Amino acid sequence: MNFAIRQPLRSSQAYWDQQLETQSRAQWRAQSLALLQRHLALAYEKSPFYRAHFDAAGVHPDQLRTLDDLRRFPFINKKVVRDRQIAVPPFGDLCAAPERDIVYISASSGSTGVPTASPFTAQDFDDWIDYEARQFWSSGLRPEDRYCHSLNFSLFVGGPCVLGAQKLGALSIHAGTVPSERLLKILGQFQATAIWTTPSYAWYLGETAIKEGIDPRNDLAIKRIFVAGEPGGSIPETRQRIEKLWGASVYDYYGLSDIFGSCAGMCEQKDGLHWAEDHIYVEVLNPATGESVPFGQRGELVLTTLKKTARPMVRFRTGDIVSFTDEPCACGRTSLRMLGVHGRLDDMLIIKGVNLFPSDVESIVRDDHDLTGEYKLIVERVNHLDRLTIDVEHVAGWTGAPEDLAHRIARHLKSVVGILADVRVLPPDTLPRETHKAKRVEDRRSGVWA
Ligand SMILES: [Zn+2]
Repeated sequence: MNFAIRQPLRSSQAYWDQQLETQSRAQWRAQSLALLQRHLALAYEKSPFYRAHFDAAGVHPDQLRTLDDLRRFPFINKKVVRDRQIAVPPFGDLCAAPERDIVYISASSGSTGVPTASPFTAQDFDDWIDYEARQFWSSGLRPEDRYCHSLNFSLFVGGPCVLGAQKLGALSIHAGTVPSERLLKILGQFQATAIWTTPSYAWYLGETAIKEGIDPRNDLAIKRIFVAGEPGGSIPETRQRIEKLWGASVYDYYGLSDIFGSCAGMCEQKDGLHWAEDHIYVEVLNPATGESVPFGQRGELVLTTLKKTARPMVRFRTGDIVSFTDEPCACGRTSLRMLGVHGRLDDMLIIKGVNLFPSDVESIVRDDHDLTGEYKLIVERVNHLDRLTIDVEHVAGWTGAPEDLAHRIARHLKSVVGILADVRVLPPDTLPRETHKAKRVEDRRSGVWA
């Protein structure tokens, strides 16, 4: 494997790979089709699972003549991956490469506690790291940066993404998840200019710094914060509050352990996440009907790998509700952009028949500067009717009338999502601070009707 800098790039250079990143949409589509044809043929030839799966659905890779033909192929999901891994240990028969060719697995533990492995060959791993370097470059990371990687190496597939920063020539500090006080010392001592963490933790770390008498804007040198793992990084209000706290720019990234480390990330325009279109083919589908939805509308993200030979993933239903655009970006890159993950299909709350994602509430709460930005949703069923309560906190030193503030938030929410909620305004520091993967929803209706 080769993690050395591919070629000496000048820091002033705008693109990692200009020809690829700025090609026309027609070229992207032609490239996708050629890669899909090759990849599905490989899956059929080398993976016992895909051969049986395609045969059972009555389809063959030769029938993929246009991109629309992909819709004839059957879906897979997390359960299929887990079941096949248990049936054919250790990595399952979706694999298209022998174990001796596999050099790395990321192991994620799902809700059932069974770790599912995502295997990579040496070539797959190199592809990932090269993509990571390209994506970091688009977010403005440069060889003179000092990058501190503080994602949990085992919990997030993003662990090896640190090698992408290294590959583009940045000094990389493999911090992992260490106690906040220690991390702040590392950031201060080495004057790190960039960090990767979750949005909740970026916020928590900034608040912790202030409590310890460290001003993140002036005492530290952080200019770029890469975030992943939660929807917050794509919610402008959340991003802007973290940016203000740190005096830094926040870039949202999206990754999925079953597929790749990162699959998409924000360029310096921060207007959606550029997709790794030469590695992963995207479909956005209505989760109920399986029909594709137009650009700009919400649907379930369904992914097909294009080059990953260790374990091809064909039409993997992610359960993430997203929207995309194919409009060109002001940065000049032409890849599809994901406008954000609106939530998990599993997290979507249906309240009084209306779909609500916690991120909808988050954008309202974080937009109001009388509030700390922390919140909790409680959903109950009272007299057969859904009731939504939202707990929020006013900022320290605020002296207004809580009922007026509660009313203002409730009215804002009603106008945006159409649901009337009881809002309770609490004093600052009342709600629990989550350090990673924040849990902010308590649905007490389970078992009553559902
Ligand atoms: Zn862009």
